[in-house]
Amino acid sequence: MPESSLDLFKQKTCEVIDRRKDELIELSTQIHNHPELAFQEFKAVEWMTEFLKKERLSVEKGIGNLPTAYRADHKGSTDSPKIALLAEYDALPGIGHGCGHNIMAVISPAAAIALKEAVPDHPGQISVFGTPAEENGGGKALLCKRGALIGYDAALLVHPAVCYEVDYKSIGCQTFRVEFFGKAAHASAAPEKGINALDAMIHSFNMINALRQHVKPDVRIHGIITNGGKASNIVPDYTSGEFTVRSTDDDYMDEILDKVLKIFRASADAVGCTVKFDFNEARYATMQTNQVLAKAFAENMKSLGLPVQDRDPNRGMGSSDIGNVSHEMPAVEGWFKIADEDVQAHSPEFAAAAISPAGHKALLDAAKTIAMTTLDLIYRPDFLKAIKEEFDQNVSPIRYKLG
Ligand SMILES: [Zn+2]
Ligand SMILES: [Zn+2]
Repeated sequence: MPESSLDLFKQKTCEVIDRRKDELIELSTQIHNHPELAFQEFKAVEWMTEFLKKERLSVEKGIGNLPTAYRADHKGSTDSPKIALLAEYDALPGIGHGCGHNIMAVISPAAAIALKEAVPDHPGQISVFGTPAEENGGGKALLCKRGALIGYDAALLVHPAVCYEVDYKSIGCQTFRVEFFGKAAHASAAPEKGINALDAMIHSFNMINALRQHVKPDVRIHGIITNGGKASNIVPDYTSGEFTVRSTDDDYMDEILDKVLKIFRASADAVGCTVKFDFNEARYATMQTNQVLAKAFAENMKSLGLPVQDRDPNRGMGSSDIGNVSHEMPAVEGWFKIADEDVQAHSPEFAAAAISPAGHKALLDAAKTIAMTTLDLIYRPDFLKAIKEEFDQNVSPIRYKLG
């Protein structure tokens, strides 16, 4: 199709978003005022799916066997390509929407309804995926693992931030719990009859500290003791802890995870305990930003006058389940500024920014960018081909290996 027609479609889609801005902001504010934790986001899902149903998208709730996940489809004039527009809506304990997911809840639905209204006969299929529990539980990782995202050609997501960026990076991570089982005894009268489960835990921490000296610098291993015994005069017969292993290399993380598990087993052996592991089902993979897709995403942001900057290579990394999606299909997560650099994510100040005028502006700008990039994907076959080529060359499927 000629460039001018594509530009016209982009313009019409953005106009719909501007025209409907009041109700979009109202939805974001409503979700902000009713924060819901991981896998409990029933109100947010109800409000967003009702909104999408009213616009005649076909909605399926509970996809991937997750009650607070949903998919809303608009089928165009052809079966392909299929574009996944992702949404998040979980809040944080204590500080509510301190990660601004109330904005993310509305962005992709807003883009989808605008595309449907402005270009109803578009080729392909647009699906909004409501993905729960990003902060704690990895809804996207579970949806990927359970096959809910199979058959899609690209995925788009946006996150509120303190700058405008497109080359999002995240570190892979696996969280698990460890339990040691020993034998209780009087710590003074008969210590020789006891098997000290706390010793096994302390040995594990010490050996993990020794291991840290011999791993690549990007590795993170951190843990806490959740049960360290009952009283100082009882040999602890039970201890438990929670640990997370992270790396920016998914294969290397497997190696480190093996070493860490060996440490727990060896500690149990040394003390005479037994050990049990319980792994989070959702392992977060590293983010593989598709650079061709990210470049087009950035161009659309710039067309709105947004100052997109290169990623600061010195910035620390957290983990996000968008990483898993990026191993399934070409994916991008764009960052939209809602607060100044000195405001930290996961803080009350960031939560306040998520319903500030800057937060509302980010919602509208992001919805427009998602909509315009979707138009690029469905109307420019060469572009879609190029992002797929990059994906095929650079990204390997994720394995959900658990120790
Ligand atoms: Zn967060
Ligand atoms: Zn977040």
